[in-house]
Amino acid sequence: ASSDNESFIFLPHLVASLERVDQTYIMVKPDGVQRGLVGEIISRFEKKGFKLTGLKLFQCTKELAEEHYKDLKGKSFFPGLIEYITSGPVVCMAWEGVGVVASARKLIGVTNPLEAEPGTIRGDLAIQKGRNVIHGSDSPESGKREVALWFKEGELVEWEPALVPWLIE
Ligand code: ADP
Repeated sequence: ASSDNESFIFLPHLVASLERVDQTYIMVKPDGVQRGLVGEIISRFEKKGFKLTGLKLFQCTKELAEEHYKDLKGKSFFPGLIEYITSGPVVCMAWEGVGVVASARKLIGVTNPLEAEPGTIRGDLAIQKGRNVIHGSDSPESGKREVALWFKEGELVEWEPALVPWLIE
């Protein structure tokens, strides 16, 4: 907020109505759940300061996995990818915030964990593309589409984190 609009910081509900607030769909993949990395992964987004608006443990169906990854249909790894994503429960999350999509991609690291920077989730916690522990939407448009695909309306919660004035000026 600009200096002539300082009271804004004490009205966090207005922040959510700003157009620049994006949402992203983050998912701990079955390997991340099986390896006990759910807490570690959620914690990285929490510490960054983004707002969690949806969270559930979920067994993904083949149909949903194919819809989610429809842009990759035809790739040689597609059947293996669908098998991987449906091989056990995933943890579905919706996160909201200014610049959350691009920032989450940075926190996650590049697709190949061997090339992902140390400090990123994939760089620190994984080895292979086909077992890279986490998904994150690649654009604000994908974020909207994927949150709507994985969550039903009543599953998302609008709330005002008390820490907003300490995170956003
Ligand atoms: P990202 O998840 O980093 O956005 P993509 O959208 O390109 O990457 O691919 C989706 C997922 O498909 C990846 O996270 C990874 O699990 C899997 N994948 C991508 N490329 C390969 C590959 N060459 N071999 C095996 N799995 C792959």
